[in-house]
Amino acid sequence: MERAPGTGTGTGMAPGTAPGTATGAGTAPGAAPGAAPGVTPGAPPAPGAERWAATACVITGASRGFGRSLARLLAPQLGPGSALLLLARSAAALAELAAELSTGDTGSDTGSGTGSATGSATGSGELRVQCVAADLGCPEGLRRAGAALRELLRDASFGRLLLVNNAGSLGDISKSFLDLSDLEEINTYFSFNVSSALCLTCTALRAFGARPGSSRTVVNISSLCALEPFPSWALYCSGKAAREMLFRVLAREEPSVRVLSYAPGPLDTDMQLLARSRTADPGMRQHFQGLWEKGQLIDSSVSAQKLLQLLQEDSFPSGAHVDFFDI
Ligand code: NAP
Repeated sequence: MERAPGTGTGTGMAPGTAPGTATGAGTAPGAAPGAAPGVTPGAPPAPGAERWAATACVITGASRGFGRSLARLLAPQLGPGSALLLLARSAAALAELAAELSTGDTGSDTGSGTGSATGSATGSGELRVQCVAADLGCPEGLRRAGAALRELLRDASFGRLLLVNNAGSLGDISKSFLDLSDLEEINTYFSFNVSSALCLTCTALRAFGARPGSSRTVVNISSLCALEPFPSWALYCSGKAAREMLFRVLAREEPSVRVLSYAPGPLDTDMQLLARSRTADPGMRQHFQGLWEKGQLIDSSVSAQKLLQLLQEDSFPSGAHVDFFDI
């Protein structure tokens, strides 16, 4: 999920190091923690930056946190003929975001519209925004999400596919490894956090197919936890590691698909609230508490902006793990 105390290897940083000061992060003096130089979160594409026409963009976990910030940043990047499909369980939050994005009003933090829970919204802008409220951790929800994907991608006019597998959960971090003996609990965790991302990605790539001249990009929202063990976080760490390997295999098998695992850094979201209040391991809990108290959590939109830049530049090696602090 983010830098752990005592993990100084690879992309890790020493305990007590402020976010944004690790390996080449290049934070401008006085900028928000982790802010990329010259980046204004929520700003439309820079003048001259090309918008993506005829793009089918899909974001899971779009109802709040990082997924919602990313949807707000991606919407202005999507040009004529594009569609944005938003997935999560919370119908009302999705509908609100869909209404906001389809009117092109991406500047505020609280949308005012009331779109349908499962449906589409096309406002004054040219972007078609659809939302599907589905629990990706259960077969029925996954089926409905897959059906919506297939329906969307039947449209042969799309020349670009961008799928962001962002939805995720921590699992019960109040438990240690030795407390994890309930097979149903474990299977439920992996079903949502690993299997659903595999199924949705497979469904999307098959439905889109190999269209001549098209571009297909799949993003896996990863974490430092894919690389480093965190006490009390056995499910989360192993889920992130498994997911990352799945996407590395995809990159090998399908060289024409662009695959990226992006670790967004410690974000100021609901997930971090759980991390600092529920983690069983006292040292880890204090670490997360400290990040929050010292204002070292990263705003979701700042990290989402870095991901957007990576996608715009499109120069990452397919299958790579790129961390917020590496950029
Ligand atoms: P968050 O605030 O908890 O949001 C999680 C999103 O996933 C929400 O939109 C939630 O929507 C959705 N979701 C949860 N369970 C779902 C289910 N069963 N079916 C469908 N959607 C579901 O988390 P976040 O901090 O934004 O994290 C986003 C991604 O970044 C995750 O993959 C996380 O592992 C990763 N990450 C986070 C951090 C961090 O510090 N927060 C650090 C590194 C990596 P509903 O509740 O409406 O379903």
